[in-house]
Parts: sequence; structure tokens; C-alpha cells
Amino acid sequence: MSTAPEPLFQPSAIPSTAVPPVSAPTSAERWMTELNSLLRELEAVTAAGHTLPPVFSRSADDQLVQIRLGVAAGLFAALQCKNAAVAGHALRVALSSSAWATKMELSATDREAIELAALLHDVGVIGAPDHVLLKPAALDRDESAVMVRARKMSLEILRRGCASEKILEIVEYVPAWYDGSRTDFPLRGRRIPLGARMIAIVEAFDAMTTDHVYRPARSRERAMTELCECSGTQFDPELVHRFAEFCQEDQTAARWEAAHRWLRTLDPAAVNSYWEMNFAPLPSAEPNVGALFQGQLLDNMYDAVVFVDTAGRVVLWNRGAERLTGIDGTSVRGQTWRPMLLELSDEKGHSIHESDCPVNTAIRCGVQSLRRLRILSRGQRMVAVDAHAIPVIDRKGVAQGAVLLFHDASSEISLERRCQSLHEKSTKDPLTQVANRAEFDRVHAMFIAAHRQQQVPCSLIMCDLDRFKQVNDTYGHQAGDEVILSLVSLLKSSCRPGDLVARYGGEEFVVLCADCDNDTAARRAEQIRKSLSRLAQTKMEGRAVTVSFGVTEIQPGDTPETMLRRADRALLMAKANGRNTVVQLGNGIGGEPAEGKSASWRSKSTRPKQLLEQDLVTPVPVRIAIEKLRGFVADHQARIVSIDGNRVRLEIDHQPAGRIRRLTDRSTALHVELLFEEERLQNDGDPEAQSSSSKTTRTKIRIVVGPRTDRDRRSQDVTVQAREVLTSFRSYLMASEEWPLPPAGTWKRIKRIIAPWMARK
Ligand code: GH3
Ligand code: MG
Ligand code: MG
Repeated sequence: MSTAPEPLFQPSAIPSTAVPPVSAPTSAERWMTELNSLLRELEAVTAAGHTLPPVFSRSADDQLVQIRLGVAAGLFAALQCKNAAVAGHALRVALSSSAWATKMELSATDREAIELAALLHDVGVIGAPDHVLLKPAALDRDESAVMVRARKMSLEILRRGCASEKILEIVEYVPAWYDGSRTDFPLRGRRIPLGARMIAIVEAFDAMTTDHVYRPARSRERAMTELCECSGTQFDPELVHRFAEFCQEDQTAARWEAAHRWLRTLDPAAVNSYWEMNFAPLPSAEPNVGALFQGQLLDNMYDAVVFVDTAGRVVLWNRGAERLTGIDGTSVRGQTWRPMLLELSDEKGHSIHESDCPVNTAIRCGVQSLRRLRILSRGQRMVAVDAHAIPVIDRKGVAQGAVLLFHDASSEISLERRCQSLHEKSTKDPLTQVANRAEFDRVHAMFIAAHRQQQVPCSLIMCDLDRFKQVNDTYGHQAGDEVILSLVSLLKSSCRPGDLVARYGGEEFVVLCADCDNDTAARRAEQIRKSLSRLAQTKMEGRAVTVSFGVTEIQPGDTPETMLRRADRALLMAKANGRNTVVQLGNGIGGEPAEGKSASWRSKSTRPKQLLEQDLVTPVPVRIAIEKLRGFVADHQARIVSIDGNRVRLEIDHQPAGRIRRLTDRSTALHVELLFEEERLQNDGDPEAQSSSSKTTRTKIRIVVGPRTDRDRRSQDVTVQAREVLTSFRSYLMASEEWPLPPAGTWKRIKRIIAPWMARK
């Protein structure tokens, strides 16, 4: 440093109302001396050409701030006391912004607002806790939220004493991003005040190029690269470009010039005119964590959230709403809500009118609604949304508006469609579009359960095209397919509500006939048989094909398997009988023993509880009874264990009948022992029988049913299953409980008593 420079601050330049520095001067000379020494100090720093320290010096900073802020300097002093580094940053930003504003030839008023806003834009930091401010590492999410809140407090503090809306607006928007992605700032792009856009750049550059507890200073080049990378998103791209030009000049000199101007030209009265009493309500002392949380939640929600007040104005339009609709929040806030805004329509594409609009209904009637609607998304395509309208009512019960929540349902819809198509693929036969075998098995079990519960008949028709292989061999597979389709079409046309047609195998189909007995089902089968046999098949040179049918009705003790096997047996019989015919098997639902009846034989049983024993009688000779037993054995897939004279032993793996199977259900192996005894009735004086030459023959059967092993004995359902088998056996054999014959000679005795009386007459 060489000789001391000439004083730059002349006594004539001191305004009469100049605000004294921090300690009141005893005389104008003393103040002038101080100012001159300050200016010399600044020049000395500049002349030395070394990097500027965070502040010129403590006293120089104080004086500059005092002159620039006047009565508001106390606020800056508070910040200085809290954190000198942040205060130094504010001063550097203010001086650089001021120099840049001069370079950009902004008006003096604009430049002053920028200087003041820059000096105080971080004053809210006085409320930030030291553990966050002085943390020697990057801040986590919560700590960052504290700093965001602190910066918002800057505005609240300044509102109490600042008379300039311009300054307040700049301070408010310094943290805003140019692209509007910080959604708590309604303005974006060039609508953000110029001063705020400039300060945002200058302060970022200053923060990057100075040392911090959490990060050393970066080079100016690196900082500039970073600014360029964030240009268009965080920063105004044009201003970044102009700032880069400005930075080519010597920053130190620029700042010095600004400081110099403050010292030379500022009028204390004009300085103080920026500050006045303001009686705006005080913000809550505690940072409002609830509001913070709500803000974060709304901003980060994927769904669109819109709040409409009772006057019908859009008050809130979150980022999700911007993303979904393509409508900018700033352009729609304050506008009147109308369904046409989003071209709201229902699922069929009919427009939603004001009267039917969920928002209006929620406000008017206080009723929530959830509907699937469609909206115009990003002005291009209609998107399905789940629209949830929720009335907002305050504690006094007064309606305040409605929240509309839109959830993009397009993915759900495609998932629903895919599920539907997968379901169809897994349950339908691709050629005929009727149910496949798996679906038939599922429905059949439910079908039986439902019909048994309601005690109404139901029947099963099973059919198989006759000599179909020949059709394929002669006319080709395609002709065969057409024949299959023509049969299916006849089967379907015979169906009534509740019936089910299914493809059971290649050219074999089944029809579940709800609420239909054996005879009715057989008549339906006969009708189809006739129709097909008369139908000229176009791909078979007009020839017709035939089909055979097996029909059966559900009968007591049936499981889905026994019913199916009986129908299959009937079909085989139809084939054996020469095809193109209907065979009907089974005795139908009539004759199922009432619950009360079974108690009588149970009480007679001397065996363990789950072992059933009954004496039955069937009005046929033993030869026919054995024939009927064959059907029972075939349909139950029973194993014949032994035949010993007139004693037959069987084993059956029994599935519980007539109910939907659960995982825990398991079949039980049952042992069945049958003792047959043919009986020729002596008609013992029956006048009619005596006159007849034929004698009645019937077969008595003793049946004993029980679990095959002790393991099966423990099964909870074993008694129920044994009774089902017994019931089924009675159905197949047309057997009933033995009706004891009158003791021998009874009829003769009756005749002896009645004869004299008859003679007298
Ligand atoms: P039957 O009267 O005893 O039933 O004789 P059939 O020739 O009809 O019986 P068979 O079981 O010998 O032949 C059935 C044929 O059905 C064999 C198979 O190629 C044919 N088939 C199975 N599914 C289809 C299909 O989807 N389309 C066509 N075209 N043919 C099929
Ligand atoms: Mg066939
Ligand atoms: Mg077949």
C-alpha cells in the first residue's frame, strides 16, 4: 500500500438528516473522519488485489449497512450476531447485484430495491437453529425444510417494517425456481420479479465461490458451469448468460464501486423512507410443521389435487394436477372451476354438465362421491380417472369448498381388461367360446350344492358327436369344426337362464340344466338330437351328422363325480344302442330320506358311532339288484374287495358331496359290506294274490358302511360321508327300509273273524 488517498467523502456531501453510524458521533468531523478512513480501507483492499474476504472488515461492513439500510440496519445486525458468514454473504450479494444492475442499466429505483432485498433476503436465518446452520455436512430432508422455512420467515420479518411492495416481492421470490417447479411460488419464468431472478443467480454464485463449514469454495469456472447447467430450470437462462458476461469484469472493482456509490450518494432520508410501521398480523412463532407437511405432501403426491372454494374459484392446483392435465397452476388459480376446463365426461363419453359436476355436488349437498370419469389430459387425449370429490366443511359446519382428487385410472383399466381377458382364456374354450372343462368342474360343484340345498332337481346332459372321426377324415378338419359349432349353437339355443354349456372334450359337450328333472332334460336332448340330424352341413355337401346323449338327474347321495359318471354311462349306452339316441339313467331327486328317518336305523346300530348299518329291501329279484349295483360301483368308482357267496365287500374313496371343496377337505376311504338275500313272498291268504299265479320276489339287503381305517375314522366328516354313500346306494338300488311283513297266518285270522259278520249280512 502507498500513500494515503485523498478523502473521497466530502463534508458538503453529508446530508443534514444523515443517520449516524452505530455509535452516535459527537461531531460531524468525527463522522467524516470515520467515513474517510472506511473508504481508505476499501481502497487499500482493492489496491492489494487479493481475494475479497467474506466481508471488507467488521467496521466497514457495519458502516456500509448502516448507510444502506438506515433504520432497518438493526435487522442486519441481528443476522450478523446470529451468523456473521450469512451476513457477509448478504452484503457481497447486495454489492454484486447492485453493480450488475448498474451494468444492466436498470433504473435507480429498481437497483435500490435489489440492493435492499439482497441485504435482507436471508434475515429469517436468525430463526434457524445453529445445529442446522453450522452443520459441517449436507443437510438432510428435514434440515433443508427448516432452512426453507427460515427463508420464508425473511419475508414475514420484513413485512413488519418495509414500506416497499417491490422489495417484499423480490425477497419473496428469491428462492423460487424459474421453471416453477417449486410449487409454493405461484409465479414462474419471466413473471418472477427481475430483482429476484438476479439475486438468485448472484447469491448462488457467491455461495459456490466462498468457503462454508460444509464445503470448500469452488472455482469461479466451476461455479459458472453449474449456473449454466441449472439455467432454464432454477435460473433465468438469459440472465445467466448476462451474468457470465458481467463476471468477465473484475468483481472486486464492481463491488467497490457499488460500496463507493453508497457512501457517496445515499440520502439518509430517502433510505429511511423504505421503512415504516406495519400492523400486519404476526406469524406464529413456531415454524408451522403441519403446513410444511401438507405442502410437501401435496407437492409430492402423484394424484391431482384441486381445491375449489364456495365461490367456485380454484384455490389450489397441485403439481400432480399440472402433470395430469397439462394446465399450469399459475394460469388456473383464481379462475372459476367448470367441468369444461378438463372436458369432464363419463365413461361413455357423455359430457358432465355443471349440475352433475362432482365438485358442485360436493359443495352444494356436502356429499362425497367417487366416480370413474374421463378428462382431457395435456390437451391431447382422454384419460380415465377415478374422481373423488370431498366436501370441505369447517368446525362450525359451514361449507368452505370441495377437494377434487383425480387418480389416473388408465393402468387399472388396462389391468382390469387384462384380468378379464385372462379369465376368459382360462375359463372358455377358444373354438366354441363356451365354458371349458375346468370351468364346468367348478360350476358343476356349486350347481349341485345349490340345487341340493334348495331341494330342486337339476340335470346333466352329456353328448358326443357320432362317428366324428369319419367327418374329419372325409371332409377335413375345418368341416369338423363347423359341425362342432353347429352343435354348440343348438345346445346354447336350448339353454335357459342358469344353465351352462361346456366343452368336456374334443367332440363331447355337457349341459348343466338348472331346475330341470330327468324327463325334461331328456326331452331337451331329444329336441337337439332331432335338430342336428336334420341340419344340412354346408361343408359336408349338405349332409347331416348325428349326436348321442346321456342324461341324468341329480339323485340323493350324488357327488359331482357320480353324477358325471352316470351321465357318461348313459352316453356309452346310447353309443352301444346304435348312436343318434338319448339314454336316461338315474332315479332323480325324489326319495331322498328325510333326516328324521335316518335316526331310526342309527339307533338300531350296535357298531361304533360312525359305522352305519341298515336293512333295506328292493322290490326286484337279486339278479336285477346286482345289475343296479354295477351302476353304483361304476359311478362311485368303487373297488370290489371280495365276493363271497351273497356277501359283497367294496371300498370307495368318497368325496364330500354337494358343496364347494375347500383345501382342508379330503376324501375318506369307506368300507361297504353288502349281504343280499332274495325272498319269494308267500301271499298268505291275500285274496287277490291267491288268485294270481305269480309269486312276488324281492331282495333284502343288509348294508354296513364305515371308515376303512382308524385314520379315516378320525375324519370329522366321516359320518356325513358314510351317510351320503348309504343314501346314494338306496337311490341306485331303489331300496327302502324293510317294511316288516305281517306274521304268518294273520290274514287267515282276519278272515275268520270277518266271515261270520259277512254271512250275517
Ligand atoms: P363315436 O361315435 O364313437 O364317438 O366315434 P367318433 O369317431 O366320434 O369318436 P372318436 O373318439 O374315435 O373320434 C373323435 C374325433 O374327434 C377325433 C378327433 O380328431 C376329433 N376332434 C376332436 N376335437 C376336434 C376339433 O376341435 N375339431 C375337429 N375338426 N375334430 C376334432
Ligand atoms: Mg364321437
Ligand atoms: Mg368322443
